[in-house]
Amino acid sequence: MQTFVHAFILCTALASLAAAAEPIRVSSFSTILTEIAEQVGGSRVQVTAHIKPGTDPHEFQPKPSDLKTVSESQIVLLSAKHMEGYVGKLKEATGGKGSVVEVGDKFPSLKMKADDHGHDHGPAEKHDHGDELVEDPHWWHSIANVKRATKVVRDELTRVSPADKSTFAAQADAYLAKLDALQKWVNNKVAELPRNQRKLVTSHDAFQYFARENGFTIYAVEGVSTSDQPSSKKVAELIALIKKQGVKAIFAESFQNPKVLSEITKETGAKLGGELVADGLGSGDTNTFEGMTKHNVSTIVDSLK
Ligand SMILES: [Zn+2]
Repeated sequence: MQTFVHAFILCTALASLAAAAEPIRVSSFSTILTEIAEQVGGSRVQVTAHIKPGTDPHEFQPKPSDLKTVSESQIVLLSAKHMEGYVGKLKEATGGKGSVVEVGDKFPSLKMKADDHGHDHGPAEKHDHGDELVEDPHWWHSIANVKRATKVVRDELTRVSPADKSTFAAQADAYLAKLDALQKWVNNKVAELPRNQRKLVTSHDAFQYFARENGFTIYAVEGVSTSDQPSSKKVAELIALIKKQGVKAIFAESFQNPKVLSEITKETGAKLGGELVADGLGSGDTNTFEGMTKHNVSTIVDSLK
């Protein structure tokens, strides 16, 4: 009898161990949030990255296989601020079971005039904005926002698995400390560039958060969806402005490279300052948030000096 009881206790203990070891299933639709969830969750999470580094999130649409994974997830992480026009499909896929966390909507937005915001957000949002203000969805170009997102993810993981609270807190603190160090690095790098040279000409308007925090003015080429060339009036204005301001370099991006950039460099004598990673993590050195940020800031500062 005693052996039986011992075996029973052992079995129960093993079963609860197995239950405790089962990782939290997370679906991520942002390369930045994938990194955060993996850093904060560690071995306690199993993160599916629906949007891989080097993929344009503006063009992404979930496939049936994505929706199936979402239906089996406990947490679904979204960039939000209108980045995912397909959010309704994801909410439907969870059947109300998984928690859809619209991370970017948990902190304040930068707003800009719709016609200054040079890319569309997919078929769901193709309507005339007129003078209406739209949110800049590229919140991760502010390290302060990435810190906020880290806390949102930490709290959500803790809500799903309260027993892991201290583990998630410690892992979040370690990641937040890395972000603080990165912020110091950015501050030092940007300080190399005199304030009157902080003028950023990019193909699409993705760096407003970075600009505001670091004292840059943005001049984005309008209508940057590559099929959608800006008006010649707009290009002429931009050329005049670049000459007048003595801007030394303009920047291409991983996904958005309107032909007009080379026309502008020819007309102004400004050089093409290298490729910025605007829409999420890239490949190689830009495969981590730290790597992407250092690449962008170095490219900008070194080209404009
Ligand atoms: Zn973008």
